Parts: sequence; C-alpha cells; structure tokens
Amino acid sequence: MSYKNFPMISRVVFGRGSFSQLQEVLQPKRLNAKAPFIYLVDDVFKGNAWVTSRIPLSYDDEILYISADEEPKTSQVDILVEQIILKYREKPSGIIGIGGGTILDLAKAVSIMLTNPGSAKDYQGWDLVKNPAIYHVGVPTISGTGAEVSRTTVLTGPEKKLGINSDYTPFDQVLLDPELTKDVPKQQWFYTGMDCYIHCIESLTGTYLNAFSQSYGEKAFELCKEIFLDNKLSDKESQDKLMMASWHGGMSIAYSQVGVAHAMSYGLGYLLGTKHGVGNCIVFDHLEEFYPEGVRMFKDMKKAHNIELPQGLCKNLSDKEFDTMIDVSLGMVPLWENAVGKNWEKIITREKLRALYEKM
Ligand code: NAD
Ligand code: ZN
Repeated sequence: MSYKNFPMISRVVFGRGSFSQLQEVLQPKRLNAKAPFIYLVDDVFKGNAWVTSRIPLSYDDEILYISADEEPKTSQVDILVEQIILKYREKPSGIIGIGGGTILDLAKAVSIMLTNPGSAKDYQGWDLVKNPAIYHVGVPTISGTGAEVSRTTVLTGPEKKLGINSDYTPFDQVLLDPELTKDVPKQQWFYTGMDCYIHCIESLTGTYLNAFSQSYGEKAFELCKEIFLDNKLSDKESQDKLMMASWHGGMSIAYSQVGVAHAMSYGLGYLLGTKHGVGNCIVFDHLEEFYPEGVRMFKDMKKAHNIELPQGLCKNLSDKEFDTMIDVSLGMVPLWENAVGKNWEKIITREKLRALYEKM
C-alpha cells in the first residue's frame, strides 16, 4: 500500500471583509513591473463597485470578466492562455480567480497551462503536469464545491469531462471572505451548498473512508445540518459556516472519494451541460437505495427551503444519448469503487443506470 502525499494550501486568510486585504497579500508576489497580476472574475461582478473597487490594479494588471453560465472547457483554457501569452512579454506574476467553482477551476487550469506546453486536454487525468504552475490565488464567492481546497480542476474536453489532478493544481493562496457570498441567489446557494452536503455523505459512507477523511467529513456534515436544517443561524453565521463546511468537505474527499451522485451527475453534465450543483441534487434525490439516511435528510432540506428541482431532463433522450451518459458515468471507476466496493461492476449494471436516469 502506498499512501498519497497530498499537497495542502500553504496560505489562507479567513474573515469577513478580508477581501480588502488582497493588495497586501499579493504585493510581495509581484515579480516585476512587466509581469502582471491577471484576475479572472465572474462577470456577475461586472459593474459591482463593492467588489471591483477592492481589486488592486497597478502596472499592467488586468481583470478578465468571465461568464459562469457554462462550466469550464479545455478549449476555453487554451484561448485564455494564448490571449495572455500574446499580450504580455513576461509570464504573469499571478492568476487570481474570484468567483465560484467555475472561475476557481479556470484560474487553476490557466495557471498550469501558462507553464506547460500543449493543450489543457492533454493534462486531464492524474499527475500528468510536469512543471509547477504560475502563482495562483483563489477567492471563492459562493460556498460548497470545495474547489478552493482541492487538488483538481474539473474541465470538459472534446473527449471527456475530467479534472487535471496534480500536485501543482491547488492554490498557493486562498482568501476566504464569507461576506462575498451575501448576494448569491437562493436556488444557487442551495445547489452549491448541497454539493458540499453530498461530498460529506459520499465520503462518510464510502469504502475508502479513513480517520483523516472522516474527521473533516463529520465536521462538514455537522455544519451543513446546522445551516440547512436547524434554522437558528443569522445570515452572517450561515455564510461563515458554509464557507468552512465547503473547505472541510473538500478536505474530506481529498483523502477519499465521492460516489454515486457525482458519477451519475458527470453523465448529465457531459451530455446535457447540466451544472455540477443542480446535477448532483437531481441525481441524489433518487439515490435512496445507496444513501437512505442522506437522501431522507436531503429531502427535508429541500422542503425547508422550498426548493423545486428540475424534472424530466431525460424524458426525450435517445438510446444513444442514454448510452453516452452511462459510458461517462461508468468511466468514473474510483467513484463506484468507493461507493459500492471492489465488486461494483456486478452491482452497477447499464440497465440499473438507465432505469435511474429515466427517473430524472
Ligand atoms: P459557479 O461558479 O458555476 O456559479 C454558479 C452561479 O452563481 C453563477 O451564475 C455565478 O455567476 C453565480 N455566483 C457566484 N458567486 C456569486 C455571488 N457572490 N453573488 C451572486 N452570484 C454569484 O458555481 P459552483 O457551484 O461554485 O461551481 C460549479 C463548478 O465547480 C463546476 O464547474 C464544477 O465542475 C466545479 N467543481 C470543482 C471542484 C473541484 O474540486 N475543483 C469540485 C466541485 C465542483
Ligand atoms: Zn461536487
């Protein structure tokens, strides 16, 4: 047995209003006047002075506003990298992602591809990255994915939806300012928050579980219950706690794996473009068989917040389209192994997945 030597985020700031300290955090990392800081910022903040006025710009620093309507693609990473290389004579001093999982993943991928040749699609997989990335910083503005702490950046490529998993992927610096999440729309808050909850359930019930993962997973689970069920927290407390739940949930799966909801949601995402958070919710809602307790509590949470999930996604799909989703899903071997054990192929048949997808 060989144990993973897992890189952790080396520096973290936590606190309401800490976003105002960004300049102080970045300043020592400027390589020279010609090496800019490039900010990849969710375009939901365009024209939002409360956020943008605190992004420190000097010399050739630049803000690139990016839509989070679609999840990141390898081609999008390649275009951004080319744009940066063509525009500046020097490599950037740093890449700073300000947004949700979509923007954080883009920032990680761009920082890797600025120092590694070829296309982002060549690095989808495990430990394919050769050179250290450019200094990169993550500033989450919505909580749940754990992308701020994870060792992967999930990208959709021409052939697969798969992360660039490497020791160079994690951020060098993370700034956690829960106040940045105050205007997240309620539905989205629930979907992305449930990503964290589902990470906990999948990690805590998985066959890969160990004391490391369990300690983080239990904490995240406890926080999720407080936030989504107990209904005793102020908005501020809830924002603070969800940001830490996301972190702990991410740490929990770092040393274990996710499970059935993620494996099946990847299929929906690949074929239909269903986004990660809502996709996980749509799938998890039908997984009583695998996670009886977890699904029961999920339904209580949905009810408590009046959340109606989209229905009938797979209603008009062809056999070929079902097959594509099933292929993508079955390709997530470690997820299935974690969820149901080494003999998972005997339990998770194509027919079973088809029947489940047909319910969604
Ligand atoms: P997101 O980044 O896609 O954002 C969802 C929506 O919320 C967008 O419309 C965005 O504009 C909006 N939004 C974000 N912050 C806001 C704010 N403060 N105020 C108002 N609106 C705001 O959502 P997400 O769920 O955080 O991320 C999903 C992505 O994360 C997927 O691409 C998924 O693959 C990825 N992911 C990555 C990891 C990882 O470990 N790298 C883990 C899980 C998910
Ligand atoms: Zn997830």
